[in-house]
Amino acid sequence: MKKNSKDCFCALCRSPRKLRYSRYLSGQHYVQILILTVAITAAAFPWFAWKGVGVLPLVWAAFESIHKSLYRKDLKCPYCGFDPKWYKKDVKLARQKVEEFLKQNPESPILRRSRTEETTTSHLN
Ligand SMILES: [Zn+2]
Repeated sequence: MKKNSKDCFCALCRSPRKLRYSRYLSGQHYVQILILTVAITAAAFPWFAWKGVGVLPLVWAAFESIHKSLYRKDLKCPYCGFDPKWYKKDVKLARQKVEEFLKQNPESPILRRSRTEETTTSHLN
């Protein structure tokens, strides 16, 4: 099966990006959730019998939160530290985060590019 990664460009520095994680869980994840729930139910069967199926929402929630954090990490640009999620929430904070990132990563390729590209954030939203 082909691994689905999305090609896109960073909104701030225009570096080519590859997003490995999508916003939502895929069918494969739901299969894993089901298998895990069945395994836990089987393992706990002597004590809980069919009540073990009740772990399904917990397993689901765990998958969702892990997946979301991976997605968030993936979303952040590795070259300039730009995070579109923060940008939507708080532009000032997003800008601050990028500045901090660039301070910590003076070797970032975007610092070697022309200054005019920094204004590209205005095209968002
Ligand atoms: Zn970037």
